[in-house]
Amino acid sequence: MEDLTDVYNELIMEHSMNSYNKKKLENADFSEIGHNPNCGDEITLEIKLDGDIIKDMAFTGHGCAISQASTSIMIDTLKGKTVKQAQEIVKIFIEMIKRETKDESELEKLEDAIAFKNVSNMPARVKCALLAWHTIEDMLKGNDNKNGK
Ligand code: ZN
Repeated sequence: MEDLTDVYNELIMEHSMNSYNKKKLENADFSEIGHNPNCGDEITLEIKLDGDIIKDMAFTGHGCAISQASTSIMIDTLKGKTVKQAQEIVKIFIEMIKRETKDESELEKLEDAIAFKNVSNMPARVKCALLAWHTIEDMLKGNDNKNGK
């Protein structure tokens, strides 16, 4: 397990220092601000949809390494997915961090985002890791409502 943890830490460091997902999107369909006052993390997520597919996503903002890396890895994970798939992945991620699921076949759907599994052992960092995921959860919910009209 030691080695695996190192790989995950490396992935988090890589994304926090040098995120190619940190930029402004041209012609974003939706944008939403996420804020974690406990740590001072603040992100703006932007999303571009193509019908039901998440065509592109990016973020701007600032915060600790965990919040920035979690946002970047979330973008990598959800890009190209349908809104429905994305909502499922977001739900699994939140459950993993809150230790509400240990189902391996569910966790596999998280792809690289499983790197944050150990954050569930660090209560002070939980809000940092969840910030982007709660933000996209709200965005996709809003989109559902619009389609439902
Ligand atoms: Zn933070």
